[in-house]
Amino acid sequence: MDKTFYIETFGCQMNAHDSEKVVGVLLEKGYREVETPQDASYIFYNTCSIRDKAEQKVFHRLDTFKRESGKGKVFGVLGCVAQQEGEKIFARAPHVSLVAGSASYSKLPQMLVRLEAGEKRVTGLKFDEQEAFETPFARRDNPYRAYLTIIEGCDKSCAYCVVPFTRGPERSRTSHSVIAEARQLADSGYTEIQLLGQNVNSYRDPSPAAWDFATLLARVGEIPGLRRVRFTTSHPRDFVKDIIDAIDQTPTLCNHVHLPVQSGSTSVLAAMQRQYTLEEYMLRIDWIKKARRNIAITTDIIVGFPGETERDFADTLNLLDTVEYDSLFNFKYSPRPNTAARSMADPIPEAEIARRHVILQEHQRAIQIRCSSLLVGAVEEVHVEGRNKALNQWIGRTSTNRTLNFTHPETDRDLVGTYLPVQVTRAGPNSLVGAAALDGSESIPRVV
Ligand code: SF4
Repeated sequence: MDKTFYIETFGCQMNAHDSEKVVGVLLEKGYREVETPQDASYIFYNTCSIRDKAEQKVFHRLDTFKRESGKGKVFGVLGCVAQQEGEKIFARAPHVSLVAGSASYSKLPQMLVRLEAGEKRVTGLKFDEQEAFETPFARRDNPYRAYLTIIEGCDKSCAYCVVPFTRGPERSRTSHSVIAEARQLADSGYTEIQLLGQNVNSYRDPSPAAWDFATLLARVGEIPGLRRVRFTTSHPRDFVKDIIDAIDQTPTLCNHVHLPVQSGSTSVLAAMQRQYTLEEYMLRIDWIKKARRNIAITTDIIVGFPGETERDFADTLNLLDTVEYDSLFNFKYSPRPNTAARSMADPIPEAEIARRHVILQEHQRAIQIRCSSLLVGAVEEVHVEGRNKALNQWIGRTSTNRTLNFTHPETDRDLVGTYLPVQVTRAGPNSLVGAAALDGSESIPRVV
């Protein structure tokens, strides 16, 4: 069997970065990544179980892989559905030979050796609390912006969430190893780093240095060569004012905080076991709004949690008006395996959840149209991420994490990776349009 592999990834940035690490580990052991499942001997599917019917979708995709990829392949299921369903996957998809959760990826090459030696089924489902999956070999997809995991797992127990079961307890990396990797990324030409964690701000340095998250954030932001540092996702309970002070004092820290609220009703927050009241959440919003720079705020909302009344839902709509989020992810509640909310009384009918979902989307869209229109005429610095050839536009991202598509007179030059000032000429609810503001202040990326 040749050592070719194909990997497909579904889910959040943590999953995307996990796949980058898996690819790096396998390349280091002599495996070769290919573009299609047809060309691969090993087919990996890195899964997510956050959304409704995630398991069915995974099995459907696995069936498609089997049908379309040809004979003699080895199939591996990775990620949250692998951790959640475990060996049950072998029964439902007998063509699968390997099932592994995120805490086991560093052992993937050994698992493949066992399969190559003739074992029929191999699993990696244990949580090693000492182990955060780190590798010097991560093969990052973007040459300018890098993900960097600082904490794995979650110690909270939100009533609707599978993550504590699928990613295990919190394990923070030492500040020394985070800084060393960030420096190495900057030295290799990366100018933007995104610090990752399920609850990134619950970070606790296990080394004697004992840095908290705000200290780590500020120190990463001081690394020469970095232009932008982002972080996601923050848990409101652990969001302290020191984080805003760090942003105030460190120009490289981006003007964006993602602070998932989930509901605007304190009684729903209590039922969700979120560990904060609406009042406590609003105190954090107040800190962010009083920062020296204009910081964009985004959030996650779940509609239709069991027991959510019309009054609770109205409180959530009021919250949107008060905060004026730059954008939000709006999820329809669906019961997930092993979670406390699964057996809660007073479930909301699916049609009603769908109705509230649409109302919330429209409500937020109106807010985004109103707030975005205020940006017309402003000049924003963008990090250029790509090009839309059909529209003859470049795709940039602002420090506030907005997409700003823009024109530039030098159509022959490759601008990807550069930082440019762009004047906003039009604003839609989800993106901005503009033209390069040619004042000579653009910067060319260093060669990677
Ligand atoms: S904080 Fe809550 S929602 Fe976030 S990963 Fe942990 S349990 Fe899930």
